[in-house]
Amino acid sequence: MTAEQPPSAGGIPVGISACLLGREVRHDGGHKHSRYCTGVLSRYFDFQPLCPELEAGLGVPRPAIHLRERDGNLHVTETRGEADHTAAMDAAIARALPGLAHLRGYILMAKSPSCGMDRIKVHNADGQVVRRDGRGRFAEALMAAYPLMPVEEEGRLNDDGLRENFIERVFAYDDWRQNVAGDQLSARSLIAFHTRHKFQLLAHSEKHYRQLGPLLSDLKAAPLADIAGRYLEGFMAAMARQVSRGAHMNAMLHLLGYLKGTMPEADKTVLLEQIEAYRRGEVPLVVPMTLLRMAQRREPVDYLRVQQYLAPYPDELGLRNRV
Ligand code: SF4
Repeated sequence: MTAEQPPSAGGIPVGISACLLGREVRHDGGHKHSRYCTGVLSRYFDFQPLCPELEAGLGVPRPAIHLRERDGNLHVTETRGEADHTAAMDAAIARALPGLAHLRGYILMAKSPSCGMDRIKVHNADGQVVRRDGRGRFAEALMAAYPLMPVEEEGRLNDDGLRENFIERVFAYDDWRQNVAGDQLSARSLIAFHTRHKFQLLAHSEKHYRQLGPLLSDLKAAPLADIAGRYLEGFMAAMARQVSRGAHMNAMLHLLGYLKGTMPEADKTVLLEQIEAYRRGEVPLVVPMTLLRMAQRREPVDYLRVQQYLAPYPDELGLRNRV
């Protein structure tokens, strides 16, 4: 992170399925402890656990539940028998959702009929699987209520690219919520946010980069809150796209353009070699990025000093060693 934009004091508030923190809240009294979440991410995230099934009063242990389609509607029922917990689940979810508005991200437990984000089995009245494209009852409501909040399944955080992307989005969203959202919104805060995330935008989606800049060119064209809302929607959609090696190369070369006048020729040659080596998949992103950061620090250019692209999250997470 740059010195200007520390993450939320006390850790960034991120929601999490309670069983991932090791809490014994699963239907069988067990948990699904994620060592990555409690051992690594908890140094930066202030995890706020929730077990929707427990909130619905289903207790521990409890009969296993699944999603069942009946009369064109999805129900939460016990896997054996007919006991239907849909109303209790929906009431618990409706109670919980307003208290999650401050979160900057959410990590969900996969395969759960409550928390699973994708590929959840849906059954018919006979208990047979009729499709596998369902979403957990809580996950569905969470993502509908907070469509811009970064949400990811814990299992997918084992993928280097998905993990890096999710964490980058959480830090960027935290920046917005701390410095632009609500009372913080002003033409100045909006432009400053866009300025410091410009190269991230360019790397994630050149299309959004070209749309969002002009959107801010006339801040009197519409109420500022409307423009900010449209901007954030486009920004988060762009950030959800994973960055290809070619797109990182393009962003790094753009950045280098601001340093060219001051950089010694020999340094420039090494940097270009390493950017090319990164494009070929021979070195991870951290290699050319470290050289770029060294160059930027030696010749501080104000515009580059604030760029979150150079350090979108704490180096200690080691994410750029693996993409
Ligand atoms: S997956 Fe969700 S509902 Fe199931 S035990 Fe974990 S937190 Fe509770």
